[in-house]
Amino acid sequence: MSEKDESGISRRQLLGSTAAIVAGAVVGAGMFPKELHAITAPKKWDREADVIIVGTGYAGLSAAIEAFDAGSSVILLEKNPFVGGNSITASGGYNAVDPERQKKQGIEDSIDLHYKHTLAGGDFRADPEKVRFLAENALDGIKWLEKMGVAFEPTVYTIVGSLYPRSHDPINNGRGASIVKALKDQVDKRKIPILLGYKLSGLVREQVLAGMVLGVQAENKGKKVYFKAKKGVVLGTGGFAADVKMRTKYAPQLDAEVPTTNVPTATGEAILRAEDEGADVIGMDYIQLLIACNYYTKKYGSLANLGIDSAIFVNLKGERFVAEDQRRDVMSDALMQQPKKLLLWIADDLCKKRYNAETIEKTVKEGLIFRSDTLEGLAAILKEKLDIPQDKFLATIKKYNESVKNGEDKEFGKTKTNLKAIATGPFYASPTQAGTHHTMGGLRTKGTTGQVIDRDGNIIPRLYAAGEVTGGVHGTNRLGGNATADCIVNGKACGKMAAAEKRLS
Ligand SMILES: Cc1cc2nc3c(=O)[nH]c(=O)nc-3n(C[C@H](O)[C@H](O)[C@H](O)COP(=O)(O)OP(=O)(O)OC[C@H]3O[C@@H](n4cnc5c(N)ncnc54)[C@H](O)[C@@H]3O)c2cc1C
Repeated sequence: MSEKDESGISRRQLLGSTAAIVAGAVVGAGMFPKELHAITAPKKWDREADVIIVGTGYAGLSAAIEAFDAGSSVILLEKNPFVGGNSITASGGYNAVDPERQKKQGIEDSIDLHYKHTLAGGDFRADPEKVRFLAENALDGIKWLEKMGVAFEPTVYTIVGSLYPRSHDPINNGRGASIVKALKDQVDKRKIPILLGYKLSGLVREQVLAGMVLGVQAENKGKKVYFKAKKGVVLGTGGFAADVKMRTKYAPQLDAEVPTTNVPTATGEAILRAEDEGADVIGMDYIQLLIACNYYTKKYGSLANLGIDSAIFVNLKGERFVAEDQRRDVMSDALMQQPKKLLLWIADDLCKKRYNAETIEKTVKEGLIFRSDTLEGLAAILKEKLDIPQDKFLATIKKYNESVKNGEDKEFGKTKTNLKAIATGPFYASPTQAGTHHTMGGLRTKGTTGQVIDRDGNIIPRLYAAGEVTGGVHGTNRLGGNATADCIVNGKACGKMAAAEKRLS
C-alpha cells in the first residue's frame, strides 16, 4: 500500500509533524486525526503513587491489594460515586476446578477440561495461553478470596451458560456484592485511597504515542487532575455493554432498543483513551447477550441466573425451544427467533435455594414475576397476562417432566445432570428478555502479563489492564462463571506485575 495520500504527503511526514505540534501544545482543532489526541506530562503532578489503578470492580480491587502487598503505594480512581462497577451487581458465580468440593458431589473435572470447555465455548477465538492461565489459577483465586474474607458455598453447580458443574457461589446469596465488600474492606484496611468521582480522561506517556506511561489525567468536578504513577498504571475499567455508541460501532444490531444487564456506567471511554495512546484492541464485536432482563423493567433481574437445572424456558406459544443448559449465545440467538423475543423462566420451589427469598417476594408483589401454588394456577396467570395457551403450557411441562423421568431430553438435548423436574410448588414464571451482558473484546494484552500492546504489537511500557476491559480471554462467547475468575486471577497478576516495575523518581 502506498505510504502517500492524495496530497502527496507521506504518512510518516504527517505523523512526525503532527507529533511535534502536539508536543509543543500549539494544536489547532481538527488539524489531525482523533487518534493523535495525546496528553503530555503536566508541569506539576497533583498526586502520586507507585501504582495508579483505575476502576474499583473485582479487577481493580484485586490489583490494588496485590500491588500494595508487594510493597507499592497505590491510589484507586473511580468515576462513579460508589465502589464496585458491574461487579457489585453481579451474581458472583466463579468457575474453578475444585477437587475438594467436586469429589464430594461425584463430579470428575480437570484443569484440562476447564481449558477445553472455555476454548470451545468461545469458538477457539480466545488466546490459549490466557485460557490456560485462567484455568490453572482459578482455584488459587478462590483460596485468595477466602483469605480476603469471602466465604463460598460448600457445593458447586452449573451457572447458566457455564456448561459444567464447577461454579462457586458466595454463601447465603452474597453474590458479587459480598466479593466487592470483602475486597473493599481489605483495601480500607491497607489505607489505600479510593478517589470517587474521578473519571479517567487520558493517559500520559513520555512522548506522543511513544515511551513509558507516566501517569493519568482524570476529571473531577470539571477539573483536570494529574496522577503520577512511579511504577505503572493498571486499567480495571470493565466492559462497554451499556455503551450504545461503542457497541453499535462493532455490533450494529445491538442498538438502544436492546436492554442491558449492566450498570449504565459500563461504558468504554477508558478503552478509547488507551487507544488514543496507541493501544490495540481485540475481539470488539464479540458481545454476549444474556437472557436475564425482566420484560417489564428491561433491567437485570427477576429469576434469571438460577441454576439452569432448576428451570426451563417457555415461549409465548407455550413451548420450549432450546436446551436451557446451552451456550449463552446459542440460547439468546434462539430467543431472537421467538415471538416478541420473550420467554418465561419457569421454575419450581427449588429456585429458592439460589435466590434471595426477599427478592422473590418483592418481585412477585410488584407483578414482575408470577407465582402460583399449582401449575394449573400458573397457566391461568400466563393466559391472562401474556395470552399463553394454557393447555399447551401444561403439556410442555408434562413432557419435560417425563424426559426427566426417562433421563433423556430427546427434544432439545438438555444434559442428564441438569434434568430436574418442575414438580414442587409454588411455581414461578419470570418474563425475560436478552440483554447485552459481557463484552469479550477489549484492550489487547501480552500473554499472561496484562501488559497492554500497541497497534504495532509492542508493549506500552508500564500500562497494564485486567478484567472485562481486556480482550482475548473468552473468544466469541464467555462461559458463565469465567468472568469472575478472569477478573480476580488477572487483576491479582497485574497488581503484582505493576508493583515489580522499577520505581521512577
Ligand atoms: C448483572 C451481572 C451479573 C453477572 N454475573 C456474573 C457471574 O455470576 N459470574 C461471572 O463470571 N460473571 C458475571 N458477570 C460478569 C462479571 O461480573 C463482570 O465481567 C465483572 O464484574 C467485571 O469486573 P471488572 O472489574 O472488570 O469491571 P467492573 O466491575 O465493571 O468495574 C469497572 C470499574 O471501572 C470504573 N470505570 C470505568 N471507566 C472509568 C473511567 N473512565 N474512569 C474511572 N473509572 C472508570 C467503573 O465505574 C467501574 O466501577 C455478571 C455481570 C453482570 C452485569
